[in-house]
Amino acid sequence: MNQPNKQNPPVYVFSGDEIIKLPYDKETQFSDADDSFEPAVAMVSVKCGNCGSVNVLIDDDVERTETHPREMGNESHYGAKCEAYCESCEQEMSVEVSFSEYADTWIFSSRDQENCEMVEVGGFGEALETFRKMAEDVRGQP
Ligand SMILES: [Zn+2]
Repeated sequence: MNQPNKQNPPVYVFSGDEIIKLPYDKETQFSDADDSFEPAVAMVSVKCGNCGSVNVLIDDDVERTETHPREMGNESHYGAKCEAYCESCEQEMSVEVSFSEYADTWIFSSRDQENCEMVEVGGFGEALETFRKMAEDVRGQP
């Protein structure tokens, strides 16, 4: 609370044609009124802890880790481990993220960063759109 300028870089989560952006503030929620969102791919942008280069880390195999029944239906938790080698210095980096859904809303619940720090990159939307199309092409293959 005493760091008003602290950034809360988001995790981007893909489900088919939809992309949601969940900032790491444990407050912002994404509402999924028609309950159609099924996470498949998670992506974060990070700054390399070694050289400071910005890289994108992706996990294309988001997994449901647990489900608990609650008053308003199930609360489902999902986890992803986004990892890559730094394009500049080849340092291995990873961010494990978890997020959950309850009562048709999504929230970013935890992260565990190794050798890197999540950052928010301006103009990322365009890259995401490109990535989404790439993912579509991959799915289109037999
Ligand atoms: Zn690096």
